[in-house]
Order: sequence, then structure tokens, then C-alpha cells
Amino acid sequence: MPTFYDTHAHLDYPDYASDLEAVIERAAAAGIGKIIAIGSDLESSARAIKLSERFPNVYAVVGWHPSQASEAPDDLRPALRELARHPKVVAVGETGLDYYRLPSAQGGTPPDDQRYKQKQSVLFRQHLELASELGLNCVIHQRDAFEDVLAEMTPFADNVRGVFHCFGGSPADMQRVVAMGSLVSFTGIITFKNAQGVRDTAAATPLDRFMLETDCPFLAPVPYRGKRCEPAYVKEIAALAAQVKGCSPDELSRATCATAQNFFPKLA
Ligand SMILES: [Zn+2]
Repeated sequence: MPTFYDTHAHLDYPDYASDLEAVIERAAAAGIGKIIAIGSDLESSARAIKLSERFPNVYAVVGWHPSQASEAPDDLRPALRELARHPKVVAVGETGLDYYRLPSAQGGTPPDDQRYKQKQSVLFRQHLELASELGLNCVIHQRDAFEDVLAEMTPFADNVRGVFHCFGGSPADMQRVVAMGSLVSFTGIITFKNAQGVRDTAAATPLDRFMLETDCPFLAPVPYRGKRCEPAYVKEIAALAAQVKGCSPDELSRATCATAQNFFPKLA
């Protein structure tokens, strides 16, 4: 059975509070050899680390999600640095920019939008600085902010690579990410009927420039669409990805696992 990794799972979410052991077991039974638990604030990141200590095949990424920027401290670096030193922390994130839901859409003013974007930008840079300092890469979340994300990353491009998670951009966008030395990753969206654009982008992405992920508990692939997602479903995502790439599951396994191993240097 070919092995795959789930490179983006929110295993610390309350969705798994009652059956996490079974979730991890089902992943192993489905051939999902490693799972990367992603932090979305300091507490969530600490929980992700705890999970990596409890389960040998679970690793952690620590960071602060841009959508929660308003609640973040002004300087995240000291606390994040402490967390990131843990031997099973394999990257910094998820971080980036999210302009999808701005304060002005919820009764705020244009200056509120500017302050919110500014705070996201400051936090994003702190993640990039820390990643550079610690020799780690970044897990990138972006929504409606692609140009600004590329602009923030460019000064760091020699030291820090990013994986643009849950990638939904065009083949041309993907080319720009790859040209910077960064990667993309694909979720269960690749199996959705209305997601031909994502399949076209995956088809155009070089076999060694992308990874697979669930972003669980969200985005369960077909035939589980709409249900709680879990790492075992990388199997369904991989089956579709192999079809799109015109390669065998074994080839896809070798390529995506090698890419993840290279991108997350501490993924032992
Ligand atoms: Zn996520």
C-alpha cells in the first residue's frame, strides 16, 4: 500500500476531542504515515506540540493564523521561538494574509481595515523572521491577498520557503510560487465536482513541487464531502491527484513524501 502524509491537519480542534486515538489509527490503516498538526494561535500550537509528544507519527507546526490577527500580541516572536525549538516542530505557521473578511464587511471603517491588514503584515513578518532564524520553512495561508503575500516573502526567499496550503490559484499563480522556490499543497477540494480549476493547476504543477493535505476537520474529499474530515482521507485525495497527474499511486507516494521530507527538515 503506498504511503502518503497529511501535511496540514488541525488535530487539536475540539472536533477530535472524543475519538482522536481512533482517528490516528484509521490514518495509519489507510497508509498515512505522518501527520502534521498545525497551530493557529499560541495555545493551539502548544496543543499541537502535545499531540506530537503523544503520537510518534504526529509532528507540529507553530504559528498564529492571520484571521485571528486582532487577538495576537504585538510581538509574537519570544513565545513562538520557545515553541519552535521543540524537536518535533517542523515549520512555522500557519501564517500569511487573509483579506477575505475585513472589518468593513462587519460594520467597521476603512481605517479599521487598514489596521487589521497592518497587524497581519507585522505578524507574518515575525513568522518569516523566526523561520529564517531557526532554519525552518513556513506554512502559508492566503486568501484574496496573493500579491501582498508574495511581496512579504520575497525579501526572505533565499532563506525561507513557503508551502501555499489549500492552493486554489491558477497555473500562472502556481508558477510564481514555484519560481520563488516555494511549494503548493492540495486538499480534498481537488475531488470536488466544481473544482476543475484546481485540477488544472495540479496537472500543471511539477510532480516534485506539491504536497497533499486534508486541512481537516474541513474540506472532506468526495465521498465524505460535508462530513468531518480526518487524515485517513488523504487516501482519496491521493487517488484523485494520481489520476490528474497521470502517474501511479506509488510514483505519487515517492514524490510527495520526498518533497515533504525535504521541505520539513525535522520530519524524521
Ligand atoms: Zn489550516
